Amino acid sequence: APALLWFRNDLRLADNPALAAVADRPILPVFVLDDAAAGPWAHGGAQRWWLHHSLARLGADLAALGAPLVCLRGDAATIIPALAEAIGAAETHVARRYEPWGRRQDEVVAMALAALGRRLVRHRGSLLHEPEAVKTGTGGYYQVYTPFARAVLAAGDPGPALPPPTRLQAAPGAPASDDLALLPRRDWADGFAGPWQPGEAGAARRLEHFIAGGLAFYAAQRDLPGVSGGTSGLSPHLRFGEVSPRQVWQAVAANGVQATVFLKEILWREFSYHLLFHRPEMPEHPLRPAFAAFPWAPDARLLRAWQQGRTGYPIVDAGMRQLWQTGWMHNRVRMIAASLLVKHLLQPWQAGAAWFWDCLVDGDLASNSASWQWVAGCGADAAPYFRVFNPILQGRTFDAAGDYVRRWVPELAGLPDALIHAPWEAPAALRRGYPAPVIGHAEGRARALAAYAEVTA
Ligand code: FAD
Repeated sequence: APALLWFRNDLRLADNPALAAVADRPILPVFVLDDAAAGPWAHGGAQRWWLHHSLARLGADLAALGAPLVCLRGDAATIIPALAEAIGAAETHVARRYEPWGRRQDEVVAMALAALGRRLVRHRGSLLHEPEAVKTGTGGYYQVYTPFARAVLAAGDPGPALPPPTRLQAAPGAPASDDLALLPRRDWADGFAGPWQPGEAGAARRLEHFIAGGLAFYAAQRDLPGVSGGTSGLSPHLRFGEVSPRQVWQAVAANGVQATVFLKEILWREFSYHLLFHRPEMPEHPLRPAFAAFPWAPDARLLRAWQQGRTGYPIVDAGMRQLWQTGWMHNRVRMIAASLLVKHLLQPWQAGAAWFWDCLVDGDLASNSASWQWVAGCGADAAPYFRVFNPILQGRTFDAAGDYVRRWVPELAGLPDALIHAPWEAPAALRRGYPAPVIGHAEGRARALAAYAEVTA
């Protein structure tokens, strides 16, 4: 009997348990863009650019094997059961989702299919271990990263990755695809095509390239945003499931100590999903209840200066411009930029998270929400709020020669290294229109600490 194969965050053929389960039957592979069900967490602009290209690659790969992909728009909760009925599919196979809205929708679809005498078959999703499988000694979930990571590393090899199918058979009766219209109407994302190659082949190439080059230097270079290839650049590929963390684990595991340092970062992603699964309110609400009363001071002008990379702090502005131009920002700089927004500028972390969500090609509900809460001090295992990053010192430490700033803030390229992270100390002619800091570091720090005192009082 034919089966329906519903793709979501798993746009790959290899190590895809849902696909492997139905590869011997006639299948209809389908993707449904359902912005209404996702609500505020519908794909952001940069993710849509990525998704457009990733679906094109997946569609071509599936067609080459014999079962073309159908892309539809609308309410998945009605489309999927209707499609299963139309092609006579007793089973619809999916990889699990962990976003709260996606989990809810899967429940609704499962019930709708059951009412038709059909079945939703859920397979392992985009994690090394399913969230229920990692438990503390007392049977609860981990709220602190280090013991979580220790438990996952101790569990060891997550198991072999599945090979891709070599041939597929298309189920008859497939409808025509809709135009998903994912590309932005303005040319904002044109610069993304240089650094990125969405799709499974691009992900495999990126992983191979990283293992051959960056991995050996990862521990030493991962915090240096000016070093190109200092980190893997795998995040958007992982986000869309073009490569699974299991495949990444298997590919790097042979590299000993270097692999462990790297896998510990993959485990931050895993931990973020773990939190999202157990604390589904995480994208909207602080995990530490005291922070619900934090005296944020929303200010559209300050938010805009930050978004546009015009805060007057070069390392922050370089990051915000890298984000706008490439859809990605280096992790160290994400932390510095996010910290400036929530501490010096007292803007709610949700506003920063929303901008990242729209601009990041790797925009991921688990990692983005968990990371913003971590920076803002309100997360499960967060950096203490009172530890306020000094953006000048952070710049001098991690971009000592100013390579990163010169690349993304070209108007400062002529400054000597000693002034590149404090341009206000340079003659105006050398700053070429670059703004003064929106708030001084000492003043911003004092304001942040005073606001925090209100929460802890
Ligand atoms: P590498 O250093 O090569 O790491 C390998 C992989 O490990 C990454 O691809 C990613 O999947 C995972 N990883 C690494 N660090 C983290 C982390 N701190 N948290 C979760 N996963 C991690 N990452 C996203 O994938 N999506 C987001 O929306 C996102 N938003 C963030 C927002 C803020 C404020 C901050 C501070 C971090 C955010 N991160 C997010 C985490 C991290 O910055 C990126 O995963 C990383 O920069 C991706 O680059 P890379 O693939 O070269 O990383």
